[in-house]
Amino acid sequence: MLDESQVEEVYRRLAKAMPGRTANAKGPKGQPDAFRSCISCMLSAQSLDRNTAKAVKALFALARTPEAMLALNDERIAAAIKPCGLYNMKTRNIRSFCTALLEEHGGIVPDTREGLLSLPGIGRKCADIVLSFTFGKDVIAVDTHVHRVANRIGLTEAKTADRTAQQLEARSPNWAMRDGHFWLIQFGKRVCVVRRPKCEVCPVSDLCEYYAANVQDAATN
Ligand code: SF4
Repeated sequence: MLDESQVEEVYRRLAKAMPGRTANAKGPKGQPDAFRSCISCMLSAQSLDRNTAKAVKALFALARTPEAMLALNDERIAAAIKPCGLYNMKTRNIRSFCTALLEEHGGIVPDTREGLLSLPGIGRKCADIVLSFTFGKDVIAVDTHVHRVANRIGLTEAKTADRTAQQLEARSPNWAMRDGHFWLIQFGKRVCVVRRPKCEVCPVSDLCEYYAANVQDAATN
């Protein structure tokens, strides 16, 4: 893994090269409220963005609050969210989530990681997405792009996104916490893409562990 000063240098360069958090970053994909953000994130598991969006739209056309959601029977929920797959399991999760939200939090989505993680169906990724996007907290939420980029460069050394999130939080400088997610995700979409990362135009290639092990080595052999 990179040392502290190298991690800082990576963030400094990414900050110059990539856009950070913008004013409209509140509410992922147009999700304006915390309840909707939680449900949306739960439905996004193993689903393409466009299918998740369809499912969220159909479900919120039927119910917009935890009380209204619980008034629906399972069949109606499942039918609405069918486009995003795993709909029976996700229906159970929605019901458990709404029940716990009402019983333990008075129907108000908590704005702490601990509170969010106490809710059924909310894991680290969803908790961090809601904290960052809906509550505007300085949290580096880890999705597939952030996970890939962080581990290729050597900011982290982790097999799971949750471990990557823990290591990023421990190893990132404070000043990078606000925009780090945005720099890393944009970098992952534009430069350090899944297949054939564009190492030849990468601003951090001299620091990158993947580059040293795979690209530089291959060129010198
Ligand atoms: S050098 Fe290549 S693998 Fe490393 S961060 Fe840049 S694009 Fe990604």
